[in-house]
Amino acid sequence: MTEEILDPLIISEQQFDRARQYIHHLQSGLVDFLKQPKRVHIIHFPIEMDDCSVRTIRCYRVIHNLVFGPGKGGMRYHPDVTEEEVISLAKLMTWKCALINIPFGGAKGGVRCDVKTLSQNELRRITRRFTSELLEVIGPYTDIPAPDMYTNEQTMAWIYDTYDVLNPGRNNRPVVTGKPIELGGSLGRKEATGLGCLYVTERFLSKQLIPEISEVAGARVAIQGFGNVGQVAAQEFCRQGAKIVALSDSSGCIFAESGLNLDEVLQFKKEHGCLVGVPDTMTLTNEELIELDCDILIPAAVSNQIHGGNAHKIKARLIVEAANNPTTPAADEILYNNGVYLIPDIIANAGGVAVSYFEWVQNHANEQWDLETVNVKLKRKMYECVDTVFKRWQRLVVGEEKCTDKITGEPLGCPDFRTVALMTAIERVANATLMRGIWP
Ligand code: NAD
Repeated sequence: MTEEILDPLIISEQQFDRARQYIHHLQSGLVDFLKQPKRVHIIHFPIEMDDCSVRTIRCYRVIHNLVFGPGKGGMRYHPDVTEEEVISLAKLMTWKCALINIPFGGAKGGVRCDVKTLSQNELRRITRRFTSELLEVIGPYTDIPAPDMYTNEQTMAWIYDTYDVLNPGRNNRPVVTGKPIELGGSLGRKEATGLGCLYVTERFLSKQLIPEISEVAGARVAIQGFGNVGQVAAQEFCRQGAKIVALSDSSGCIFAESGLNLDEVLQFKKEHGCLVGVPDTMTLTNEELIELDCDILIPAAVSNQIHGGNAHKIKARLIVEAANNPTTPAADEILYNNGVYLIPDIIANAGGVAVSYFEWVQNHANEQWDLETVNVKLKRKMYECVDTVFKRWQRLVVGEEKCTDKITGEPLGCPDFRTVALMTAIERVANATLMRGIWP
């Protein structure tokens, strides 16, 4: 078997090309515009470490597309961050915002650093310097960062403060979302991505495609990643009566056939900084978690976890992509052929950017909505998104919408949910581009 290519740009290109096959009138001249990033910023700067040594930091901010509004996307701090990864994540943000109908374009940022080895002071200096270098890029109407892997409310507070100090005399709160509540953050933002996962799963299961699992209650769930998204997802699924049988972080996976006690797990993680070692649990690897016998598998950590080498071993009936890009195109094909349903990232984790948009609206109006208002709006957005993609998928399945190869006229197979979600998003961005009129 030839080795699978895991380059994030090649993967996003493959996903785009697959969706494009099903789109009827996409002008070929637009394709490159939709595929390419609008701008890529690569920045290096020196940082003084606590021991007075100096280190050079490499950072990225990519704006993929601005057709629907200012750039929107998280800031990821990770030693493996690459230009290709940040570009692919910025693209994903364009499609996600278009699919859930919020007036933002796609962007993403990355800082190559290992948060686990840095002090809070070093992190603050890196974040302030990076923000100052992006002063002409980010802004309440141009490009609005948010948290992602290994960044959090504190990181967003530093970004806001730096931008505000350097741009005094105006309301700068909407420059960044995912802020602490005290600084204009939205109630429910921290929980939004994990809660959004629950909402899309509920809605998806209500379509009765998987007769054995018609609701979240009673479902056996395995979650990879126990950071912001994984923790909230575990809590929300548990609250709805699901049994969380496995959880993992970068230290490994813990498993309990009869279900994990989340309060005990959270307490252990707080005390020890890792999951492995929680009493009365079995230790497994992250690879073993993916192949566990469960109903719902939620990857909520890093990319490429479900690939051509393990997709055929997956026993879950439904995969809910809380993480970005956790599944490769080769795995998509295997899962589809094996009847494993998958709610793709641009639907499953869109709750985060939805509530980021609500935060931005609240900041412009100098308002704070109550939690119920935020969650009702979030639920509506997530349900609408599942319904839109599901309806289109059904039309393709029953042949109401024809899908034939544009050159040979041969019928194309029915697409999976990722392809239907992507084709819907790509069409929206393409149509809006033409509707605005090509300038000049
Ligand atoms: P986080 O930094 O809070 O948590 C990341 C988790 O992943 C940690 O538990 C970490 O131990 C674990 N992890 C890291 N490397 C791992 C590995 N190799 N194997 C298994 N686990 C590993 O990050 P987060 O904000 O929870 O984001 C998780 C995923 O969700 C990312 O893919 C991110 O892009 C995506 N996402 C996050 C948001 C958000 O609002 N935070 C929104 C949309 C999508």
